[in-house]
Amino acid sequence: MENVLIFGHKNPDTDTIMSAIAMTNLENKKGKNAKACRLGNINKETKYALEHFNQEEPELIEGVEDGQQVVLVDHNEFGQSVDGIENAKIIRVVDHHKIGDFKTSEPIYYTAMPVGCTATIIYGMFEQEKIEIEPKIAGLMLSAIISDTLLFKSPTCTDLDIEVGHKLAEIANVDINAYGLEMLKAGTDLSDFSPAELINIDSKPYTTNGIKYQVAQVNTASIEDVLKGKTEIENAMEDFIKENNEDLFVLLITDILENNSQIIVVGNRKDIAEKAFEVNLEDNMAFLPGVVSRKKQVVPVIDKNI
Ligand code: MG
Ligand code: MG
Ligand code: MG
Repeated sequence: MENVLIFGHKNPDTDTIMSAIAMTNLENKKGKNAKACRLGNINKETKYALEHFNQEEPELIEGVEDGQQVVLVDHNEFGQSVDGIENAKIIRVVDHHKIGDFKTSEPIYYTAMPVGCTATIIYGMFEQEKIEIEPKIAGLMLSAIISDTLLFKSPTCTDLDIEVGHKLAEIANVDINAYGLEMLKAGTDLSDFSPAELINIDSKPYTTNGIKYQVAQVNTASIEDVLKGKTEIENAMEDFIKENNEDLFVLLITDILENNSQIIVVGNRKDIAEKAFEVNLEDNMAFLPGVVSRKKQVVPVIDKNI
């Protein structure tokens, strides 16, 4: 039987990794030959969660061959996917993002829900198949929900995420708040990243009406601390957009305790960000109270102003 590769987006986050693992577990339990993969380095938050539940990292892949059967989780835009995706055979997508440039030549399974986390959707798939979720997988899926919803505090979080999160916590036998805070905190350790690495931990490209832009996000318990390296970070952002021919780069520095973000903006279309967030950038920066979600509070308002 042909091996199906299951993976999330480049610059993987906890949802992308855990959803690939959970979806693979579900497919395997249905008797299908599937393997979880990743398209980049595991971040510190995800590493913490994988180690906590004693789970190996998925295999790193650089690209896929023509005709390779793949399942996409936690993304659909080809620019965020594996190299060679245009000629792969996408058989299924499970995602909670806006649908971008997605296109296939054949009918596929496509499950999209506007919920806070892909793992929440996958939970429903286990239920539908009447397949029990084992405690380790439950712990990994719970980690994904905690990560994507910032412990249920992000505006992307829905009642379903909360309900599923609590069910998974019970299966995994985990105290959501204690574990969740430790896991989120593990992701805020930025000490050994160079500025170029820091802006790439959780970074995504977008193209809207011919404008190419990048939105990256780092989580922290102290925005002030991150801003100590502002000049170097800005330089790295400038280099990145030059190299990738982009018009705009927005970095969100998100305070996971207070649930606000500071943005640093560079590029020749900074005006788009100023309009989108209704701010005047000072020193390329602005403070955005209550903004924590790229998907819901950043990308849509940028798109609207392009
Ligand atoms: Mg993601
Ligand atoms: Mg996600
Ligand atoms: Mg995220």
